[in-house]
Amino acid sequence: MGKTVAFFGLGHMGGPMAANLVEAGFTVKGFDPVAALLDISASRGVGKASSPLEAVAGADYVLSMLPNGEDVEALYIDRDKLLDHIAETTLVIDCSTVAASSSRRLITEAQQRGLDAIEAPVSGGVAGAVAGTLSFMCGGETANVERAREVLQHMGSNVFHAGPAGAGQTAKMCNNMLLAIHMIGTAEALQLGVDNGLDPKVLSEIMQKSSGANWSLEKYNPYPGVMENVPASKNYEGGFMVKLMCKDLGLAQQAATASRSYTPLGSLARNLYGLHSLAGNNELDFSSIQTLFNRK
Ligand code: NAD
Repeated sequence: MGKTVAFFGLGHMGGPMAANLVEAGFTVKGFDPVAALLDISASRGVGKASSPLEAVAGADYVLSMLPNGEDVEALYIDRDKLLDHIAETTLVIDCSTVAASSSRRLITEAQQRGLDAIEAPVSGGVAGAVAGTLSFMCGGETANVERAREVLQHMGSNVFHAGPAGAGQTAKMCNNMLLAIHMIGTAEALQLGVDNGLDPKVLSEIMQKSSGANWSLEKYNPYPGVMENVPASKNYEGGFMVKLMCKDLGLAQQAATASRSYTPLGSLARNLYGLHSLAGNNELDFSSIQTLFNRK
C-alpha cells in the first residue's frame, strides 16, 4: 500500500508541493485554515482534512509549509499540540523558513515524545515547487534526513544535510539574505540602465553573460516584461511575498546580533524591504522592490 502524508499549509509553496506528492503515488491529506486553498488542492488530488488531528491520523509523514515560526510552534506544540497526537512511527518534516531556535525547539519537543523530526526549509521559489526541483536544506539526525528522502525527492532535485537541528535554517537564512541583496542590486542596476536609455531585456542579456550574472537576473528578473512567467510580468503577483522576505531578513539580523557578525548589506536590505513593506507592498512578490527605484 502507498504511504500517507499529512500536509499542513497549502499556500504558494505547499499547494504545488502536496500536488507533486499525489503525482508520486502518496495518499496526501491536506489541512489549511483557508478553505479556498483546500478546494484548489482537492482538485489536484489532495484529500481534505477537516482538522489537524484528522490529517495526522495514520500518517507515515507529517509535512508543514507554514508562514513563520509562531505558526509552526502553535501547530505542533502550543495551540494544536499536534506532537501529542502523532504516532511514534511518523516522521515530522517542517519545510517552513523559521528561526533555528524554533526548529531546535520542535525537534527537541518531538524527541521528548519519542518522535523523529527534522527541519527542511527550501529554496527554488514557486516555480521550483511546481516543477519539483526545490533544494531542501535539512537539519537534524542523519538517519531521519535519509528517511525523509523518500518524500523530499519527489518535490526537489537537491536534498542537502546541513548538520544538526537548526543548521538547515541557518543555511536558509544565509541564502535568503544573499538573495535579497542580489535582488535589490539587480533592480537598481536595471533601473539605472533604463533611466539611461537601455532596453531592460538587452541589458539583462548582456549582464547575464557578464560579471553581473546572478539568479535574480537570470531566473527571476524583477523588471516587468523581460521574462515570461515570473511575478514581475504578472503585476508582481504570486511568488514569495515581501512580508515573508522581511521575516527572513529579520531572522538574519537577529542571528547576526547574537553571533556578533557584521552584515551591513543584510541590514540595508532589511531596511529597504521594511520600507517597501510599510508602503503597502506586503502581499506582492519580493521582486517588486524594482518599483522602489522606478519613480516615473
Ligand atoms: P503562503 O502564505 O502562501 O502559505 C502558507 C500557508 O500556511 C497559508 O495558506 C496559511 O493559511 C497556512 N497556514 C497557516 N497556519 C496554518 C496551520 N496551523 N495549519 C495549516 N496551514 C496553515 O506562504 P508560502 O509562500 O507558501 O511560504 C511558506 C513558507 O515557505 C514560508 O516559511 C516561506 O518563508 C517559505 N518559502 C517560500 C518561498 C516562496 O517562493 N514563496 C520560497 C522558499 C521558502
